[in-house]
Formats: sequence, C-alpha cells, structure tokens
Amino acid sequence: MAIATINPATGELVKTFEPLKDAEIAAKLDVAQKAFEEYRKTSFELRSRWMLSCADILDKEKVKFAELMTLEMGKPLKAAIAEAEKCAAVCRYYAENAENFLADVPVKTDASQSFVKYQPLGVILAVMPWNFPFWQVFRFVAPALMAGNVGLLKHASNVPQCALAIEEIVQRAGFPTGVFQTLLIGAAKVADLIADDRVKAATLTGSEPAGASLAAAAGKQIKKTLLELGGSDPFIVLASADLEAAAVTATTARMLNSGQSCIAAKRFIVVEAIADKFEQLLLEKFEALKVGDPMHPDTDLGPLATPDLLKELDQQVQTCVKEGAKVLTGGYPLSDRPGNFYPPTIITKIPPGSSAEQEEFFGPVALLFRVPDIDVAIKVANSTPFGLGASAWTNNEQERDRLISEIEAGAVFINGMVKSDPRLPFGGIKRSGYGRELSIQGIQEFVNVKTVWVK
Ligand code: NAP
Repeated sequence: MAIATINPATGELVKTFEPLKDAEIAAKLDVAQKAFEEYRKTSFELRSRWMLSCADILDKEKVKFAELMTLEMGKPLKAAIAEAEKCAAVCRYYAENAENFLADVPVKTDASQSFVKYQPLGVILAVMPWNFPFWQVFRFVAPALMAGNVGLLKHASNVPQCALAIEEIVQRAGFPTGVFQTLLIGAAKVADLIADDRVKAATLTGSEPAGASLAAAAGKQIKKTLLELGGSDPFIVLASADLEAAAVTATTARMLNSGQSCIAAKRFIVVEAIADKFEQLLLEKFEALKVGDPMHPDTDLGPLATPDLLKELDQQVQTCVKEGAKVLTGGYPLSDRPGNFYPPTIITKIPPGSSAEQEEFFGPVALLFRVPDIDVAIKVANSTPFGLGASAWTNNEQERDRLISEIEAGAVFINGMVKSDPRLPFGGIKRSGYGRELSIQGIQEFVNVKTVWVK
C-alpha cells in the first residue's frame, strides 16, 4: 500500500510520501536507543511537564489536527475535534498519575526490605490503524513516555500526515529528540524492526492478520506484545430496557466513526417481546442521519476510509442477502457521488449459520438478531471468535448480574455505550487480542516489574 493522503470523500490523491530507506530506518533506531539511555533518567516531574504541554498543543490546535484527520480518513469534523480533545485528556491523565502508578510497592517477606520496582523497557514499536488516527497513538504515547520508554510509530499508510503531525506535537512539547519518532514505512518492514535488538517490545492495534503476523515475529525474538484487534460487539436489549434510550445509544454506538470502530456495537441481539418496537425505533433513527461531506458541521456520517473497505463491506452485505437476510434500510454503496460513501444500513432475518454471525462488519451496518430470552441472548453474544466489548440493556438486577458475569468480553457496559476512558482498562479477550491499554494496567504493560530483595 502506497504511503499517501487520499481524500476519502472525493477520491483525490492529495500527497504521496517516499517510504524510508533501510539506512534511514537504521539511523532512526540509533537515535531512539541513544535517546532512551538519557531519557530513562529524567524525573516524572519533567516528563509530566512535557506531557501537559502536549495536551495544551492538542487543545489549542484541535481544529487544525481535526481537519487533517478528516482529510485523510473521512471522519466527520466534529468527531475529529472530539478526538483531539480526548488525546489531550489522556496526556493530562498520565501526566498526573504516572508517578503514583509506577511507585515502588513494598512487600513484607523474610528480607529486611523487599519491594516491586517498575522500570522502563526501552524502545517500543507501535503499529497503529487509521480509524482513530490521533487517539490510538496518544493512548500509547502518554503511558509509554511517562513510564520512561521511547516510542517508534509505524502508522497506517493512509494517514501519513497525521503521523508526522503527532511527531511534531511531541517535539514541540519539549520531549528530547528521539523520544518519539514516526517511521514512514510499509507493513513489510515491521518484522525487521521487531528483530532489531534495540526494539524491546511492540504494540499493534488493527486487524487479526496484522496482529498474528506481528506476534509471530515478536514470538521468534521472545519480545513482549500487546494486541488490540477486531471486534463484533453485541448490543443486547432485554424486555425491561428503556427502548428509546437503547435505540438512541444503539444508533450512536453503531455509527461512531462511520461504523469503523473496533468497539462499535455491531450485532443487535433483541428479545422477541420488544423486537418490533426496537426495530422501528432504530429504523427511524438510522434514516434521520445526515450522510455527506465530513468537513460540514451537520454531517453525521462521512465516507469509509478507503475504496477497499467500501468494497469489502458491500460484499459482506450482498453475501448476507444471498444467504436469505432482509435489508430494512440502506444496503448498497451510494453511487450518486464520488468517494467511499455507504448509507446507514439495517439487516434483519439473518439465517442461522450465516457468515454475518461470525464476521466483523467495519462500516455503518447493523445486524439484528431476534432471540426468545436472556439465555439465548448470552449464547448468541458469545458465539463469535471476538471478545472486545459488549453493551447490554435491562432494568432487572438479576439479568444485569448475569450479563456482567456471563458475557465473554474485555468490557461490559450496562445501559450505556462501550467507550474508552483513560481511567478504565481497555482491551479484549479471544481473537480481539490481549493486554490492556489505559488506566494503571495500561502503563504497567511495557515496564520491567523488578523484584528487589535486600537481606
Ligand atoms: P490493519 O490493516 O491491520 O492495519 C493496522 C496497522 O497494521 C497499519 O499500520 C498497517 O500498516 C499495519 N499492518 C498491516 N498488516 C501488517 C502486517 N502483516 N504486519 C505488521 N503490520 C501490519 O487494520 P485496519 O484495517 O487499518 O484497521 C481495522 C481493524 O483494526 C479492525 O479489525 C478493527 O476492529 C481493528 N481495531 C481495533 C482496535 C482495538 O482497540 N481493539 C481499535 C481500532 C481498530 P499499513 O497501513 O501500511 O498496511
């Protein structure tokens, strides 16, 4: 895939970039390693000051950064502005909490003194996707740099200007040269980077094949990895739920980022007793959404990020229909305009055994499943290879407790939308990946948990 900015709303090729040559990559690795040797000795106080400065830059220049995100991957501008603000918040969160999260932990043993000490690992490689082009990077950068590690970013090939802008923010904030660098390279270079002695660990957010390939390369080198992969999150609605609130949130949760979010609600599992009503409410809300120019402030739904994504989503929907499912609204790419536009779509009557039960639909398509009761709802929710997030709606306490304990996912949200929050751990189980980002768990992923014992 060429490293280039292509406007997804128009198809226009805006700018191309030459990938780094091997010698340039080697030079950046050298700079990163040298930077780590000094940076690891800096105080939390100093790192906090630089991290807070990142937050200030993000806040002050959020519109400029948002325009870049929208230009490169097509999310509506208002969502891109909110993304820049969220990045500022995660920088502030770790600036304020990192020292406490990584403080020595005394443990009583037979020693005169024993404790746990957290130390940085060194150069960490981050391989990131385009869908939240700033947020995915900052949720790595903030804890990694506060812990004393240095970062190398291999961003998705369709968001090079976002990748360079993030490098510039970190530099302008005052972090020493080499503490965070962007590498404009293709995916084929990742295995070589992981094999390099200077790279100590890697994190990847993206698809299953990319995660498996990175983890295999790291496994050969005995290096730690963290994987945040795909999801096919269930959104369960039981009879006692507030249906209007559930339908409003279902719409937001499915349409977030034009449907291109790992934690978007993708499978709507609704008990028969209220299914007709919920379906009607969802239909009204989907049909009220404004699809169009992502730079326009009123737009709810922009284009998909690339023509390939549009093609893949279209094929998934057509396969589903061939298998016997019914399209309630939408169902075809919008061919009346340039760009990668797909309308809000609802699919019902999905036959058992259909491929739609197992796959991730990465776009504005809601799959509706009717179930007789909570037992089948939980069974259907757990029946995919993924286990990222789950949203469940009920006003019954016993049902709530069952959903919390029986759903197989890294997160369960009751009567609310699955969302990431710097204060809460984020990550999946099963084929959605392993490890956690954000919160105290996130900053403790890339550190040496050193046991100290003094006689
Ligand atoms: P992708 O194709 O896997 O790309 C993600 C990143 O991995 C890009 O930087 C890509 O580089 C790189 N990459 C691709 N193949 C690779 C390989 N074999 N080895 C090493 N790196 C490789 O994913 P995507 O289609 O952009 O993103 C959508 C997927 O990400 C969805 O499945 C979504 O659910 C998941 N996602 C998960 C989370 C989470 O937190 N769990 C968050 C967001 C997205 P190139 O661009 O150069 O190919």
